[in-house]
Amino acid sequence: MAQTSVMDKLVSLCKRRGFVFQSSEIYGGLGSVWDYGPLGVELKRNIKDRWWHAMVRARDDIEGLDAAILMHPKVWEASGHVAGFTDPLIDCKTCKARFRADQVGDAACPQKPSKHPGEHTTCALTEPRMFNLMFKTVMGPVEESGSVVYLRPETAQGIYINYLNVLQSSRQKIPFGIAQIGKAFRNEITPGNFIFRTREFEQMEMQFFVKPGDDTEWFERWRGLRMAWHQELGLNPDKLRWHPHVESELAHYARAAYDIEYEFPFGWNEIEGIHNRGDFDLSNHQKASGKKLEYFDQAANTRYLPNVVETSAGADRITLTVLADAFREEEVEGETRAVLGFLPSVAPIKAAVLPLVNKDAMPEMATELFNDIRKKFSCFYDDGGAIGRRYRRMDEVGTPFCITIDGQTATDQTVTVRHRDSMAQDRIAIDAVTRYLSERLV
Ligand code: ATP
Repeated sequence: MAQTSVMDKLVSLCKRRGFVFQSSEIYGGLGSVWDYGPLGVELKRNIKDRWWHAMVRARDDIEGLDAAILMHPKVWEASGHVAGFTDPLIDCKTCKARFRADQVGDAACPQKPSKHPGEHTTCALTEPRMFNLMFKTVMGPVEESGSVVYLRPETAQGIYINYLNVLQSSRQKIPFGIAQIGKAFRNEITPGNFIFRTREFEQMEMQFFVKPGDDTEWFERWRGLRMAWHQELGLNPDKLRWHPHVESELAHYARAAYDIEYEFPFGWNEIEGIHNRGDFDLSNHQKASGKKLEYFDQAANTRYLPNVVETSAGADRITLTVLADAFREEEVEGETRAVLGFLPSVAPIKAAVLPLVNKDAMPEMATELFNDIRKKFSCFYDDGGAIGRRYRRMDEVGTPFCITIDGQTATDQTVTVRHRDSMAQDRIAIDAVTRYLSERLV
């Protein structure tokens, strides 16, 4: 498969089968904003649930939080975003296109034939200018006198400003963490690659508060845990790697940073960042708010400002990673079969129930089985068309199991279970289906 066509095929499958639609499509679309359809919302939710389980439910030392998107504007002054959350931009006065100064070499000039910006004789590029990525809006009834507030560009700050609330209410002790999943907004200049870089997206972030001096050890520990999480998600380990940030790449807040990168059809790109933020955020909020944010260590009878190790992943970007990693096409009996080979536990539909034909009591038995297993798993009932076509439709959306009620079912109460990847079939008792699925949906 040519590399570019893989993405084209994936985008078209996502639209055709209801994973992802372009936002406001009937009005021509809104740039780099996407909507999740019936299957996409299930897939993304399963990924978020997996993250939440690993980060919050399965641990004693991490608490959950759901902070508001809107925060006091001073939060963004103290965090450095008002002054520093900027990209250098270059405009072309001829074609009015805008490019990130650090990406001109990879960008395409809209003029034909296709060249990089600045390479046509008619290109008229400006000097780079700094452009803030935060979306602004106005709070209050009257626009003129209202105060400017920002749509948060990251979820982390909601955690810092609540850290003492969470610490005191949960009776945690350092080291401990706070995890949050929520929307973030960035007015990205060169968005693209489908849901890889969008202007509205969801982050899954965790801030781990540690004693100063323990930060490097925890940073290393979280690096290991996060890489393992991606591997357990079923991603091909050969397509995952580390990208350490060198001095010049480090964000204003970071002492050390590593990205986890995935090899997409369009190249290696970041899917999660692990950052040692030191006490940058807490000390800035302490200064700006005038409120003491120190931790009192009772055992040692000392006070200190904790250091923070952050793990920051994008739910949409990881959804794209899971889709790209799972997508394959293969030749089966002279036909091309498209498959999304998801890890069964993240598949949007876990099992399809299919009566072989719509007669001989098969629909009734199939409906009864469907109503039974849907109590536990997300299932789909399909009685339309040839059985082979129905299997292919389920392969294309990544359903790991297809359960078929056939002529034998009425006589011996058995069904076939067809496996998505091997296409092999098992024959099992109809009343063993729920247990069979439970054992395999991990
Ligand atoms: P990039 O270099 O790709 O712009 P970043 O270094 O600015 O990313 P962070 O601020 O570290 O990203 O954000 C953490 C995670 O949030 C990223 O690894 C990514 O998964 C996700 N993310 C960031 N920006 C976007 C976006 N515009 N669209 C979708 N996901 C995003």
